Amino acid sequence: MEISLALLKPHVVRNTYALQQLKTQIETNFNILAAKDLRITKELSECFYAEHKDKFFYYRLTSLMQSGFCYAFILQSESCIQKWRNLMGPTKVFRAVYTEPECLRSLYGLSDTRNACHGSDSTVSALREIAIVFPEFDISRVASQSK
Ligand code: ATP
Ligand code: MG
Repeated sequence: MEISLALLKPHVVRNTYALQQLKTQIETNFNILAAKDLRITKELSECFYAEHKDKFFYYRLTSLMQSGFCYAFILQSESCIQKWRNLMGPTKVFRAVYTEPECLRSLYGLSDTRNACHGSDSTVSALREIAIVFPEFDISRVASQSK
């Protein structure tokens, strides 16, 4: 069994209908090991997205993540990382709308940055991101199963 970190971005959390739809998709497809809403600080957003610090959208992205509550999940399933990324769809919402109209980013994304949700892209990323977002979670309980 693999684990991943899913984050729902602030514009989704503000929209009760979208939030419920996304939660239902997640509950239907994954074991949820932990879930919470949280405010992401400037420091947390910069640490979380450090790999993108030289990109033109970095300030836009880190500002967005600080703009309201996010909702975070630790997911677990077979092929969890790819499964969640498949449900989310392409990074760019306008591409998602054309190529995968039923994916979550197509349905609930607003722009390339406000693309509704985040998913870890590897086990290494998942462990790093979970340690940032859920520092209270005892990762050693599941980490050995997810390598
Ligand atoms: P995520 O890491 O959020 O799951 P991803 O792995 O599909 O998304 P990344 O390349 O890691 O895509 O980009 C991280 C985030 O940066 C994206 O989710 C999106 O919010 C933002 N982003 C990526 N590319 C662009 C872009 N060209 N313009 C604006 N924002 C972008
Ligand atoms: Mg990514």
